[in-house]
Amino acid sequence: FTRERDSSSSSGSRLSELKPEPATLQANNISAWFGTHQVLDRVSLEMPAGVITSLIGPSGCGKSTFLRILNRMHELVPSAQLAGEVLIDGQDIYDPELRLTQARREIGMVFQKPNPFPAMSIYDNVVAGLALTGIKVSNDERDELVETSLIRAGLWKEVRDRLRSPGGGLSGGQQQRLCIARSLAVMPRVLLMDEPCSALDPTSTRVIEETMLELVNDVTIVIVTHNMQQAQRVSQQCAFFLASQGTPGAIVEYGDTEAMFDSPIDPRTYDYVNGRF
Ligand code: ADP
Ligand code: MG
Repeated sequence: FTRERDSSSSSGSRLSELKPEPATLQANNISAWFGTHQVLDRVSLEMPAGVITSLIGPSGCGKSTFLRILNRMHELVPSAQLAGEVLIDGQDIYDPELRLTQARREIGMVFQKPNPFPAMSIYDNVVAGLALTGIKVSNDERDELVETSLIRAGLWKEVRDRLRSPGGGLSGGQQQRLCIARSLAVMPRVLLMDEPCSALDPTSTRVIEETMLELVNDVTIVIVTHNMQQAQRVSQQCAFFLASQGTPGAIVEYGDTEAMFDSPIDPRTYDYVNGRF
């Protein structure tokens, strides 16, 4: 990553300027290819500010690809191509005028397998997120931000007495919350979560779900999940992706989560949410 702001322009860039504030993400007509293999076909979805949107659907239907497109990770794959646009509060994240670091700062990502830097301390793992902003902070401010981020990630009470211990010594669920804290350190406006609980036990899963429900007032959340109960517990809005018989992934149905589970419109949605495939 390059620095967002160099030191000459950072006067006035204070930590206090970083305020949590959710943004609306809008994907318009997203199509995606790996080489000649099309994996998404004209996917449009609004992910409103302060709402948890879940993306569901069978493996291989393009959910992870879609999520990665939402924060420009897709373009890291050399064979990847893209059509369509992604807007954050109306601003095109692929606009060459918008720095990649800015897009990544505003749109954080958490993965299926918790990936803290295992040998790095818990404290430094959180600070690692902050390094991306280029905003200069005093030691006191840094302490405060680490605490705030760990509180928001629901991990503070468990680790406050061992901030200098390695991140790799935490349990799986704690490691995942540490990754959430690392993402939150830059005050993202959107948090993308790709099956964040798939590697975790049910108790850790519930803790992370509670964390999400508390976070969503401050950050828009988009979660990919294979857990239908989880989708119903956490998300107000749900999109069902499907790639059937060699056709690229597309959204079959989306809308209010409760309505989608109680009275799906498309028979394929009905079959999927009822575990028929
Ligand atoms: P999901 O997350 O819904 O399981 P993915 O987005 O991971 O689906 O994959 C969608 C399709 O894109 C699959 O056919 C997969 O094989 C293909 N794909 C994903 N990543 C790559 C890649 N880096 N290179 C080539 N094909 C890929
Ligand atoms: Mg996936």
